[in-house]
Amino acid sequence: MRKAPDCALVTGGSKGIGRAITLQLAKDHGLHILINYASDTQAAQETLRLLEEQGGSGELLKFNVQNRSAVDKAIGEWLSANPEKFVKVLVNNAGITRDGLFMWMPENNWDEVIDISLKGTYNVTQNLVRQMIKNKSGRIINISSVSGLRGAAGQTNYSTAKAGIIGITKALAQELARLNITVNAVAPGFINTDMITTIDPEKYIKLIPAGRVGEPREVAHLVSFLASEKSSYITGEVININGGLYS
Ligand code: NAP
Repeated sequence: MRKAPDCALVTGGSKGIGRAITLQLAKDHGLHILINYASDTQAAQETLRLLEEQGGSGELLKFNVQNRSAVDKAIGEWLSANPEKFVKVLVNNAGITRDGLFMWMPENNWDEVIDISLKGTYNVTQNLVRQMIKNKSGRIINISSVSGLRGAAGQTNYSTAKAGIIGITKALAQELARLNITVNAVAPGFINTDMITTIDPEKYIKLIPAGRVGEPREVAHLVSFLASEKSSYITGEVININGGLYS
């Protein structure tokens, strides 16, 4: 009997960087992609359409990464319904910004940004890591940010969340290295997605040595490399992708 293709789960895989990662992982590795999203079904369906148009396979898996019981239910039901499939690659990409100066930052803006990033990574990873441990194989790639490395004014919540992503990446990498499971983080600078549409380009383009923002597919190529066998001895790393903005 033909073995089912390995799978990848991309949280926030319906838009922006997540969409590019979804398409690239399918193209480069033939993985069946579980495209997670929270609310925008139209965007998720369009990503699935693009994936199928390029000859790939995937399905939508809607859940809010913040909500433990919703994550357990969605992933648990999927695993039970697909006992022959293995989610070999997990990309913790879902993230939001709620910018504002710290002294006026409402508690919900603090909590939501940190919960989606950190609790989300905990919730989803814990649901999938046991299968990776059992198979002694896996790739976990967490999307951090330049803000998590250098901090950004107006983004204390986001900088904290993205710095936390680096912490879990480094600690979990040490727990899983012997099991042939790598855990790495990618730290993008300014990437051309909906997330940066509220910021005036005049304010940041001049700060970027490359003189332009990055494209989602450029981040996706890096994630695809980290998902491949070629990166087998890289773990616990944070890889910058920012046009020279910060290193
Ligand atoms: P985006 O275009 O706004 O897309 C965000 C994605 O995350 C969407 O698919 C969204 O789905 C999903 N999402 C949001 N909240 C979620 C939740 N609670 N549960 C599940 N999915 C959720 O953002 P992006 O620019 O591609 O950013 C992707 C990642 O890269 C984020 O972690 C971000 O922090 C990081 N990053 C981005 C940049 C940049 O310049 N763009 C730079 C550094 C790091 P719905 O639309 O359905 O809610």
